[in-house]
Amino acid sequence: PFNMTPHQIHGELDRFIIGQENAKKVLSVAIYNHNKRLHDESGLIKKSNILLAGPTGCGKTLLAKTMAKLLNVPFVIVDTTSMTEAGYVGDDVEICLQRLLEVADGDLELAQKGIVYLDEIDKIARTGKNRATTKDISGEGVQASLLKLMEGCEVSVSIKRKQPQMEKVTFDTSNILFICGGAFDGLFDSPENKPIGFFPGNSETADIGQEINGKLTQDSLKKYGLKPELVGKLPVLCPLSELNGHDLIRILTEPEDAITKEYQLLFEKDWASLIFEEDALLQIAKMASSQGTGARGLRT
Ligand code: ADP
Repeated sequence: PFNMTPHQIHGELDRFIIGQENAKKVLSVAIYNHNKRLHDESGLIKKSNILLAGPTGCGKTLLAKTMAKLLNVPFVIVDTTSMTEAGYVGDDVEICLQRLLEVADGDLELAQKGIVYLDEIDKIARTGKNRATTKDISGEGVQASLLKLMEGCEVSVSIKRKQPQMEKVTFDTSNILFICGGAFDGLFDSPENKPIGFFPGNSETADIGQEINGKLTQDSLKKYGLKPELVGKLPVLCPLSELNGHDLIRILTEPEDAITKEYQLLFEKDWASLIFEEDALLQIAKMASSQGTGARGLRT
């Protein structure tokens, strides 16, 4: 059974996530409390959905995925920009819940405790330049169906079992933990005053920042174009910072599943040893950094 303290949870996050100290602290407590809620019958402990805001490739999805792993609950990622406003609780919602059920191996109890990561939530904001460019998507409509989902509702979901015919189950979304992620370009200053040191700033975050008020708050999110009701469903706001060159090198080498370890193993299986020299690591980090996609460029 899960009985880690926030401190221990932080230690677990440290095994896979470099930097983002502020986010790791906030999320350690969030995981700790969410776990209490999952095992509580009184209904007194309210759900605390989370918003992770930071540039692309800085570890938002990784943090959410690691949380699910620690809590041992199913996890799915939904790209909100591909959602349409099909209806009140439309097909997209059903597909998302169906996937949770699949990941939970058809165990409805478990699926109902899952974590749903809503990616690119900033792109469905209501206003001007932040909006997704596709004309037929109204950010507002998508926000409305997400809100319904997050408020807790019952959706009839088809489930594929061993037998060929489809079976319908009633899926209650009220215990699902929602973690929203988005870049929110220009909305706030990074919490750790990064990037400093080498390869500073590929994103324009620093320049257009402050435009609103330099802080990630419920107010600034509303001004950005998220519905107040939706913002109200996201009590935990967590700003993440852009990764600098130093972080990128650490990501290459330090996490338990670090990419250099992976390639060393690949070579080892051919009885060869692969050695990365410091200069090579620096060069890889530089090339990745120039792509402006955070740590995502490292593998490429
Ligand atoms: P995003 O912030 O866009 O959701 P991801 O979490 O998907 O970024 O990051 C993409 C990949 O980059 C991850 O799978 C991971 O390998 C690596 N990565 C990103 N940030 C970090 C970090 N802070 N620590 C370790 N690895 C990271």
